[in-house]
Amino acid sequence: MRILITGGAGFLGSHLCERLLNEGHEVICLDNFFTGRKRNIAHLLGNPYFELVRHDVTEPFKFEIDQVYNLACPASPPHYQHNPIKTTKTSVMGAIHCLGLAKRVKARAFQASTSEVYGDPEIHPQTEDYKGSVNPIGIRACYDEGKRCAETLFFDYHRQNGVDIRVVRIFNTYGPRMLPDDGRVVSNFIVQALRGEDLTIYGDGTQTRSFCYVDDLIEGFVRLMNHPELTGPVNIGNPGEFTMLELAELVLKKVGGKSKLTFMPLPGDDPKQRQPDITLAKESLGWEPKVSLEAGLEPTVEYFRTLLAEG
Ligand code: NAD
Ligand code: UDP
Repeated sequence: MRILITGGAGFLGSHLCERLLNEGHEVICLDNFFTGRKRNIAHLLGNPYFELVRHDVTEPFKFEIDQVYNLACPASPPHYQHNPIKTTKTSVMGAIHCLGLAKRVKARAFQASTSEVYGDPEIHPQTEDYKGSVNPIGIRACYDEGKRCAETLFFDYHRQNGVDIRVVRIFNTYGPRMLPDDGRVVSNFIVQALRGEDLTIYGDGTQTRSFCYVDDLIEGFVRLMNHPELTGPVNIGNPGEFTMLELAELVLKKVGGKSKLTFMPLPGDDPKQRQPDITLAKESLGWEPKVSLEAGLEPTVEYFRTLLAEG
């Protein structure tokens, strides 16, 4: 198949490009390089089945394709809050352009949605039928509401125009190729520990997240995309739930060194707890994560160690 990946030069997108090329597909990677990097896909540039296109998804695009994975959108809070209006535009216009293209060429369209659609959740763990608790005017809204609107567009193009859709709700995922200055907690803690700096805990560190290793996530993506009929939304994430204090302790154990913890104010609307209910993914896709946080931190720490040593 010929497959378009928007946001293909980013953290998750670059792993997906690699996986689909390995399966023998042609891959078109479209990215504006806001948070993506050429080095993430540099090793793929010599592959005759790989094409790189610099483009912004807020502008229309046309390709003859069989599938499109829509991943274009900054994912870390500091990056998506840098230009919040652009973040909403990216999610909404990007979805419209992917869906318009999918409708025209009869391609299957996949949306990388997020556990952020659940906001600061009142039910725990979160199931797909939970409608969420998002503050529509807070500092995270540009991302959360942009992603919620993108889901709406996917389901309306499906109902109104018969577009074949797949929607995944991704829970916090980490691994090699995250940016060292990305601002997300796993990369921050590892980079701080490797530099011998104190680890920055926002709030009292009792808030929880559930961390999925990138390889597990990509497996879930491909299974959902190739499922004969399941539109989703489907939660994909690792149900192992950790407080930020526990994560800090684990990172310090892996990295060693003399870093301590330093406490900083909790950003606005920061969800207190998050854990995916993955019953649907297990039953319909036969998917469940295989890599524990402890195991997944190993290659992630090694990646950052090498990156920082290169300077
Ligand atoms: P990332 O920031 O590394 O990747 C996003 C990519 O999209 C980057 O390459 C960036 O340059 C590109 N991009 C941003 N705006 C664009 C635009 N207007 N036009 C074209 N390209 C644009 O983040 P990631 O972690 O790889 O996330 C990928 C997708 O998965 C995002 O849509 C994100 O919302 C979603 N997601 C990720 C996580 C996670 O934990 N990693 C969790 C939930 C959802
Ligand atoms: N966090 C932290 N220290 C950091 C970065 C983040 O304690 O240096 C906290 C953040 O407040 C949140 C959790 O870690 O409670 C996860 O943050 P991240 O930005 O990785 O993802 P999200 O909040 O979008 O789930």
